[in-house]
Amino acid sequence: MTGSIIPNLADYEVWFVTGSQNLYGEETLRQVAEQSKEIARSLEAASDIPVTVVWKPVLKESDSIKRLALDANAQDNVVGVIAWMHTFSPAKMWITGLDLLRKPLLHLHTQSNIALPWSEIDMDFMNLNQAAHGDREFGYIQTRLGVARKTVVGHVSDPRVTAKVGTWSRAAAGWAATHELKLARFGDNMRFVAVTEGDKTEAELQFGVQVNTWGVNDLVEVVDATTDAAVDALVAEYEDLYEVVPELRKGAEQHESLRYGARIELGLRSFLEAGGFSAFTTSFEDLGGLRQLPGLAVQRLMADGYGFGAEGDWKTAVLVRAAKVMGAGLPGGASLMEDYTYDMTPGNELILGAHMLEVCPSLTTSRPSLEVHALGIGGREDPVRLVFDTDAGPAVVVALSDMRDRFRLVANVVEVVPLPEPLPKLPVARAVWKPEPDFATSAAAWLTAGAAHHTVMSTQVGIDVFEDFAEIARNELVVIDKDTNLRDFARELRWNQAYYRLARGL
Ligand code: MN
Repeated sequence: MTGSIIPNLADYEVWFVTGSQNLYGEETLRQVAEQSKEIARSLEAASDIPVTVVWKPVLKESDSIKRLALDANAQDNVVGVIAWMHTFSPAKMWITGLDLLRKPLLHLHTQSNIALPWSEIDMDFMNLNQAAHGDREFGYIQTRLGVARKTVVGHVSDPRVTAKVGTWSRAAAGWAATHELKLARFGDNMRFVAVTEGDKTEAELQFGVQVNTWGVNDLVEVVDATTDAAVDALVAEYEDLYEVVPELRKGAEQHESLRYGARIELGLRSFLEAGGFSAFTTSFEDLGGLRQLPGLAVQRLMADGYGFGAEGDWKTAVLVRAAKVMGAGLPGGASLMEDYTYDMTPGNELILGAHMLEVCPSLTTSRPSLEVHALGIGGREDPVRLVFDTDAGPAVVVALSDMRDRFRLVANVVEVVPLPEPLPKLPVARAVWKPEPDFATSAAAWLTAGAAHHTVMSTQVGIDVFEDFAEIARNELVVIDKDTNLRDFARELRWNQAYYRLARGL
């Protein structure tokens, strides 16, 4: 079954715009255009920039700048704009355009040449190659207007430069994804739980996400209407892809559980496709006529790019979807994760993360085992689920909390490690990791920030993508990494409390 909704990032465009002015005359402006095309070509050719970079004619006065901004706003596949002031572009020309621009902006501070041709430099050279002050004029007006942007400095032949542009373009694609995200909640929040709640109306303004609830029996109707032939085909696919335990195989006593799991997947998938949803939540307290808590189905839909949050947690579902898009095409994956239990052995503390069922198999390159076990919660039939270990390697976990007047993102850089010992009795997919800078600092900072027990774990992208995403969203992000110390972290939280209230205005 090919139901992936992970986009090909090359289908997204980032426009490369160059600023100048008419004062320079035709010959210089021709050279400006040539050189800026060359820079756009280098960006487009860079393998670490996944989006398509499109060169736009040099902008020389207010009207064309304004038009460029409006055109970028109007095109769904344009996820951002890169601006470079090759020459001096008096910045009052940019005020209206920058004020209108609604797409993420990257200010690329570069120049055409790397080394200076010292013995050749004359005033014509100086006239043509003056980004050093043209971009300062542009930086001033962006800062004066309070324009959120990413600033990248260096020559485009430097891989560190294209890596930063690539990271930002992934964040910009994530921003586009949340703005087209329709999220279906089947049932409401787990009763009495605080952190998975949140202001859905504010989230639509902040991230562009539409979050709405459907009765779970609307889903049950679609699940029950699936055909036996479709179930046969999907069960055959399971047998092909996974180590199916004997009791679930054809003719065995629990084969019907597997068939019902397939029914849930078929129903969920067609419900989501019909509604144009790219994320969803379930709630084990509200399963209506569903005979199993969806496990396998949720895991496979996540692997196909759907955002998911358990217990009605739509905020984490949004993060999972954004991470899927931002990491598109990279090795690794992204999943709902939950901090579950610790190994507190001094000096070698570890976090064991998992969920009741729903961890995405994109986190492993191994062949998952498809199993069925009793679930002590929810009071339904035994659910089918994929069981595997998350691949070892660098990862990031990110949580989203509603802090009453705003949303707070909290991210921790972690290292997923191989299981210290096998877990023969744990019937769920899991990950074991060491957090930066150390267990005690990480956990204390996490708790101080009021971050959630649900996260998205991404093994595809690093903290820098989430930093760029937060900057684009103008949303608070606090990072726990190797540089974190608790005193500064607590201060940052206090300052942020004041800053985000002030920055919001009235
Ligand atoms: Mn949970």
